[in-house]
Amino acid sequence: MNIPTLAVVIPCFNEELCIKSTIEKLDVLFDKLINSGKIKSDSYFYLVDDGSSDSTWDIIEELHNINSRVKAVKFIRNFGNQKAILAGLEGVRDIGCDCAVSIDADLQQDENAIENFIDEYMNGADIVSGIRNDRKTDSFFKKTTALLFYKTMNILGAKIPPNHSDYRLVSKRALDIMELYHEKYLFLRGFFNEVGLKTSYVHFDVKPRLAGESKFNFMSLMTLALNGITSYSVVPLRFVAVLGFFMALFGFLVGVETVIEKIFWHNSPNGWATTIILLCIFGGIQLFCLGLIGEYVGQVFREVKARPRYIKDKELL
Ligand code: UDP
Ligand code: MG
Repeated sequence: MNIPTLAVVIPCFNEELCIKSTIEKLDVLFDKLINSGKIKSDSYFYLVDDGSSDSTWDIIEELHNINSRVKAVKFIRNFGNQKAILAGLEGVRDIGCDCAVSIDADLQQDENAIENFIDEYMNGADIVSGIRNDRKTDSFFKKTTALLFYKTMNILGAKIPPNHSDYRLVSKRALDIMELYHEKYLFLRGFFNEVGLKTSYVHFDVKPRLAGESKFNFMSLMTLALNGITSYSVVPLRFVAVLGFFMALFGFLVGVETVIEKIFWHNSPNGWATTIILLCIFGGIQLFCLGLIGEYVGQVFREVKARPRYIKDKELL
């Protein structure tokens, strides 16, 4: 296989404190990889400014002017991390590359693992997924919710290895296949795992954020998780149907029992507590199931509108 042209996709949302030193560090890595003949000298960075409201874009423009490796695109507003990565991957596919790596702007993911990614790529892998060694830098809350999410996804049939992240290498071939998926809310972790291309895994260390704060909050993590589940599994819907069936059966049996009791033993006013309890339980289950179905209706609603995934404002090539 020929030495690849590598494109590094970096989503940035209000990363004015990080972006400069991130590019410096990646530049050093690029020099090393080019000198050791692992990547071609026309390899580049592709920064996606996800509608930052700070000076991120100004810094990117500065970097672009002094460093020919820096290419970038700016969204018209904030579209979220998944869209930023997606736009980055689509962007580098159009510009041209043999493989692309997506990495966070805060360089929490150890950039030196990219060398191992390239080795795996040269060994024939189309997708090389980064797996975190541990979650030391994550809060207790994030650790538990992430674990819960991956467990749920696996039970539901979308086999995503835990401690997976959006730090991965994908080949040109994978990018071409991605173009065939027209979902607006493509869940990248799900897509790259189920697509069927040869996949390798590389372990890496997670570092603390270079500077600034996490751009994810409870709601955005929740949205990501719900989108992941509803776009990659219909098992919950089936579960609702099965649950409904058994609940109906149970209700029928209780009904029969009540009637028999009334006819033969004539003691009807008993069971007030039971009535209230059943009312609450059934009410709860019904609301939960409605909400669950609502999530899928929402997913259909968003997809059917077929709005653009993101809107570009400016591009620096
Ligand atoms: N990010 C983005 N759009 C958003 C939120 C985050 O492009 O709406 C980027 C952010 O700039 C960073 C990456 O996604 O490069 C991961 O975000 P962050 O480091 O804040 O998340 P964490 O590491 O805490 O999960
Ligand atoms: Mg981070």
